[in-house]
Amino acid sequence: MQKKRVFLTRTLHNFALNELKKKYQIEIHSGEIPIPKTKLLKKIQNVEGLICFPYDKIDKEMIDAAKNLKVISTFSVGYDHIDTQYAIKKKIRVGYTPEVLTDATADLAFSLILDILRRVSEGDRTIREGKWRQIYGAYDYVGIDLQGKTLGILGLGRIGSTLAKRAKAFDMKIIYHNRKSISKNKEKSLGVKYVTLDKLITQSDIISIHVPHTKETDQLFDMKIFRKMRKTAYLINTARGKIINEKDLAVALKKKIIAGAALDVYENEPIGKKHPLTKIQNIVLVPHIGSSTKETRAKMAKITIKNLELGINGKKPIYSVGY
Ligand code: NAP
Repeated sequence: MQKKRVFLTRTLHNFALNELKKKYQIEIHSGEIPIPKTKLLKKIQNVEGLICFPYDKIDKEMIDAAKNLKVISTFSVGYDHIDTQYAIKKKIRVGYTPEVLTDATADLAFSLILDILRRVSEGDRTIREGKWRQIYGAYDYVGIDLQGKTLGILGLGRIGSTLAKRAKAFDMKIIYHNRKSISKNKEKSLGVKYVTLDKLITQSDIISIHVPHTKETDQLFDMKIFRKMRKTAYLINTARGKIINEKDLAVALKKKIIAGAALDVYENEPIGKKHPLTKIQNIVLVPHIGSSTKETRAKMAKITIKNLELGINGKKPIYSVGY
């Protein structure tokens, strides 16, 4: 019997590729990343399984071209790059990788909070640029304490609640906003308080974004919201870039409408050194590394291939969108 065909838009760990090769006829895209749309449109026509990444846009046109496709398995927890409703309508399973990357992403969010408040990256730039002149003065290179500050978590799901545990250990006050509050017991054990979105925006010293990118959250953080935030407040985003209007953020930072920001994700990735945000001092920029630890990425690969295997055989992936 002929092996089922699987296309990967990028390579994965060797252990995962070896597993896949045992069962399927696999092809891996090499060259330009993300894979050009025309190439993916051609490749997707003939395969039963697709392994993709957050930059690969799997829209209606792509799904219509995929005449034999049984499963889309994405190497990410976010699936805003896939038209999941249309895939489900076409009886194509969609697998994704939550939970295993929760700790790593919460760690990064917390490290960005520490970095921007204590000016770690800025200090590094100061030394590298040969600009360290005064030492130990009353006002030299002062940052901000975390203790006692109010952290506002937008999206207290897996990553948001894990961040709350870290913040609690640093004696921060934690408020959060979801569309629906979590149970009173869970609130108590995490030490968090539910507030409206407006209160979260106006009362937080630091806002950390952990909602998915959806129609509702698209460009949510714009000038209107920046003007409502405290002048002394910081914005952290490890969720998705399109939740923030970057042009407005650049203005808000330059005009000191808010105190600073730290970002892992951007409206269009990757960004280069000419990007307007790179010209601003009170911002920390890292290249979408939320889930990027050796251990986490290996766990994600394991789930990605398991999801693929289940879906290609008409079964529900371990982590499945929809059915
Ligand atoms: P999750 O467990 O589903 O949590 C999302 C939370 O957001 C839920 O508590 C949800 O609560 C809330 N929410 C959803 N829509 C909302 C809205 N319109 N307004 C207010 N709250 C809303 O997801 P997760 O695993 O924590 O991941 C969160 C996001 O992080 C992912 O979608 C992904 O895009 C991003 N991420 C990025 C990286 C990275 O590398 N930087 C890594 C992992 C994840 P309600 O349903 O009650 O509203």
